[in-house]
Amino acid sequence: MNTVSRDTKIVVVGAGFAGLAAAASLVQAGFQNVKILEAKERVGGRVCTMKPFTENIIELGANWIHGQEGNPLYQLAKEQDLLVEAIAASKMMCLPHSVTPRDYFFMEGGKQLSTNTVDRVCSLFSKLTSKAFESELEDKHRVLSLGDYLDVSFAESPLATSEDESKIFEWCKRSECTDEAASLYEVSASQIGYYIALEGGFFNSLGPGGYQAILDILLKALPSGTILRNTEVKSIQWDSKGDEGKEENHPVRVICENDQIIETDHVIVTVSLGVLKQKARTMFEPALPKSKLDAIERLGFGTVDKIFLYFSERFWPEDCAGIQLVWDKGPEDKAIYSRQDEEDAWKETWFKKICGFDTVARHPTVLCGWITGREALHMETLQDSEIGGTCVRLLRSFTGWSVPDVSQVLISRWGHDPHVQGSYTFVPHCVNVKEHEALAAPLPSFSQVPESKPLQVLFAGEATHVNFYTTTHGAYLSGVREAQRLINHYSH
Ligand SMILES: Cc1cc2nc3c(=O)[nH]c(=O)nc-3n(C[C@H](O)[C@H](O)[C@H](O)COP(=O)(O)OP(=O)(O)OC[C@H]3O[C@@H](n4cnc5c(N)ncnc54)[C@H](O)[C@@H]3O)c2cc1C
Repeated sequence: MNTVSRDTKIVVVGAGFAGLAAAASLVQAGFQNVKILEAKERVGGRVCTMKPFTENIIELGANWIHGQEGNPLYQLAKEQDLLVEAIAASKMMCLPHSVTPRDYFFMEGGKQLSTNTVDRVCSLFSKLTSKAFESELEDKHRVLSLGDYLDVSFAESPLATSEDESKIFEWCKRSECTDEAASLYEVSASQIGYYIALEGGFFNSLGPGGYQAILDILLKALPSGTILRNTEVKSIQWDSKGDEGKEENHPVRVICENDQIIETDHVIVTVSLGVLKQKARTMFEPALPKSKLDAIERLGFGTVDKIFLYFSERFWPEDCAGIQLVWDKGPEDKAIYSRQDEEDAWKETWFKKICGFDTVARHPTVLCGWITGREALHMETLQDSEIGGTCVRLLRSFTGWSVPDVSQVLISRWGHDPHVQGSYTFVPHCVNVKEHEALAAPLPSFSQVPESKPLQVLFAGEATHVNFYTTTHGAYLSGVREAQRLINHYSH
């Protein structure tokens, strides 16, 4: 590393996986003037490992490592001995070895569905979604939203003639919303094929430190004082000619809400797409180019929330992995989703968007409910006690079991978190996946160089990854990508 690059000043905005990975890569490459500005007191962003109930962790944000092969976070966790073995994993679920956990599906009237019936529909659903994920859709389906494609395909199946099976199919769609962070009628069927699911499935056997333990590895790589917490960036002035007379002349000025001003050579912006949607028009001076603003507007950023219910005792059977709720008419039914006449009627039945309640690793008496989209955003406005009470009523009426009152409730409110504004990115119907690339492109754009200094503003974060958007490894890899862009620049 030469003196020029050692003295180069780099500011990273945001201390989520993308920001921490970028800073750690730069420090490792020998850059000595790297600062991370983080708006919150807490680092980690959408990774939020907590201990609200007992000494065991709860993940309010990311929980799974998606895939093993080629997943740098899986690799890091493995190298650092942060994964637990399969036997320990079954203990973590508080199960004896002999018990294979399974989901219990209940209908609105309290009828329990047989595993065979559920499996038949779920395997058809998974065959249909795999076709989309593997880019094997017929042309007539490629132009549809994911929801419409699934409806059209299901209608051609003999299962569509049965009422129970049709209701289970609606449940499958609602459950898929958790992965897409949006109604399936908003999501593009064709572009989803660009998302790459890494081999190895969901890996949920992080040790007792959870995701925080992986963050800690990155934090250890940073010299003390690298992260300035409670330091929200208000605006970024780039392409400035600076003070020509000054010996040190940096083209970027980062202005913080606390009035701190930092002059720098490069800034890597890792704030979520949700924050960019709200602030991009006022945050940058000069304004961002149209291609970037279009990408920010066109890509979708949806909300997924978790509802943790802590009970004084377990009331579900030992082999129960989750209690799933199959409504007679669910909110992912297209007729209901798109009904304009009763604009706010869905707010009265927001709880119908809860897919079900899953058991939680290391917590034998805790259930976790999932809710997405506009219903999640509405739920976030309600009191915890009201949400908890509604969930208990649902559990009682669907299962008929003796369900005690809930002792403690913990709700995520990602949609109303001012520094996140949602949960993760999706590619809407009629939008091209190339928008991820437009979002990732550094400024000034190629055509503006050579008058301007190169690579002044760089962009990372899960939304900027074409193939791994929505994930922690996508965020991590995007941070490494932008660090590498600077490392390459100074290696010439
Ligand atoms: C409920 C939920 C469940 C999830 N489950 C999984 C999962 O199981 N597996 C998986 O792989 N992924 C999951 N994800 C997604 C994953 O958490 C994210 O993709 C990833 O953590 C995003 O990291 P990031 O660095 O891109 O953004 P963020 O984590 O959002 O980091 C951005 C940082 O920027 C800060 N910031 C914002 N504005 C400013 C500003 N003006 N100035 C300074 N700092 C600012 C924020 O406070 C934040 O710390 C989940 C997310 C949610 C919400």
